[in-house]
Amino acid sequence: MAKGPAIGIDLGTTYSCVAVWEGQNNRAEIIHNDQGNRITPSFVAFTSDLRLIGDAAKNQAASNASNTIFEKRLGLRGLLPLTDEQRSVRLWPFKVVAGIDDNPQIIVQYKEKFLMSSVKDAVITVPAYFNDSQRKATKDAGAIAGLNVIRIINEPTAAALAYGLQKRANNVGKRNVFIFDLGGGTFDVSLLTFKDNNYEVKATSGDTHLGGEDFDNRMVNHLVKEFKRKNNVDINGSAKSLRRLRTASEKAKRTLSFDTVAMIDIDALYEGIDFTLSVSRAKFEQLNMDLFEKCLETVKSCFSDAKMDKSSIDDVVLVGGSSRIPKVQQLLKEFFEGKELYSSINPDEAVAYGAAIQAALLSEDVKNVPNLVLQDVTPLSLGMDVIGDVMDVVIPKNTPIPVKKTKQYATVKDNQSVVSIMVYEGERKTASENNLLDFFTLSVPRAPRGLSVQVCFTIDDDGILNVSAVEESSGNKKDITITSKNGRLLLLVKELFDHWVKISKKKRAQ
Ligand code: AMP
Repeated sequence: MAKGPAIGIDLGTTYSCVAVWEGQNNRAEIIHNDQGNRITPSFVAFTSDLRLIGDAAKNQAASNASNTIFEKRLGLRGLLPLTDEQRSVRLWPFKVVAGIDDNPQIIVQYKEKFLMSSVKDAVITVPAYFNDSQRKATKDAGAIAGLNVIRIINEPTAAALAYGLQKRANNVGKRNVFIFDLGGGTFDVSLLTFKDNNYEVKATSGDTHLGGEDFDNRMVNHLVKEFKRKNNVDINGSAKSLRRLRTASEKAKRTLSFDTVAMIDIDALYEGIDFTLSVSRAKFEQLNMDLFEKCLETVKSCFSDAKMDKSSIDDVVLVGGSSRIPKVQQLLKEFFEGKELYSSINPDEAVAYGAAIQAALLSEDVKNVPNLVLQDVTPLSLGMDVIGDVMDVVIPKNTPIPVKKTKQYATVKDNQSVVSIMVYEGERKTASENNLLDFFTLSVPRAPRGLSVQVCFTIDDDGILNVSAVEESSGNKKDITITSKNGRLLLLVKELFDHWVKISKKKRAQ
């Protein structure tokens, strides 16, 4: 249990938000940033002698494009090595290179400095579909920033807590709730049952690389083509011009959620040439239709995983800034056969709000904490390879956590001296087609084949996995917690955490 108040942090791909439970007022309060805003862009920038965070970093992004970092998802890809997609991204103005073990590293110029901050208890949210190593990386980044991360929870589940608090006030009975969370860089859906202050996640599904920034990218590409068509010059090589186009694209995208036409109007975009263009909502939808349909496929797979019918859903809750896009709402409404979408919670703040409730539930001396119980699930199947490169699932996806499962295996060769345990996550039947989390070997006494080895998988409340193996006759034992690699910790995440720690300290001092 944490002592005193703990904060809830929604560390979003594009925006972050922090909240704390206020016992006197019986509600969570969003903590404003130093600019007085309730959400903060997930941006960090480095000038020759300054480190800028949030709005200040985003505002100077065009003039200092190569030293401004955004896109949290880049850094939290976990153990996945740098992909072709990442290598070839031309739209990122900062340099991405392959670092240790091929993990992505961002190059910026800054006089290196490490800031220590005092320990602060926090609950941090992650996309539900984050894998084991991405969760671990988030926890590590929090620890490096001096935070005491008391729990990692899933974003849609946090949003459900915020929803449940409202429903609880209205004394509703059992509800089946569908959370549709489309943010800046990730997409998550969760199906939950809410009854008597208990939440049970039935199934979760998602895509850790789908969100508002993909819609921005489509728009940027469109604008680059239009600029080339009009002026016969390619601006792809100019980080500064691309940054300005990206900012204009995001703004136009937001406008198109309310108006049917948005104007792009940029002075001297490239080599002194101005750029003016009108973009219709229909054009924006056409540019992104395949991505919107991809979202719907994920929704469908969540229902088939949960073995539930869409007609059993009482409320469809929209979370994440991109859930405001009219076409997305229209497709969702059609899927739910005309059902009105629940819009009483703020899609930008619901996740931080829920994280603050969870933080209060884990803290001592906090008043009037709602008595809510949360049962979450693991998003991906976890298992190990057995003979023939077969994925032997130990914990299937959508299993409630925390959980401990043990399986019995046997050696396959006479006089075998070691067994190797390869731990994978994913849904493919062929083990090596899944994501290899880690592996270890266990010494066994030389004996005829058939020696019994017991393997135990444990997932804790944060969704982090520990695997142990024991050979029964000798008692030889080994265990590992799947760890994140140091090279993977993204500077941006750490800097943002530092920033929030300072803000929450200020708030406490008030
Ligand atoms: P989140 O990660 O939930 O903060 O969502 C941020 C994403 O939502 C960003 O990509 C924003 O551009 C996008 N967004 C915010 N407001 C709107 C809006 N009105 N219409 C479309 N996208 C939006």
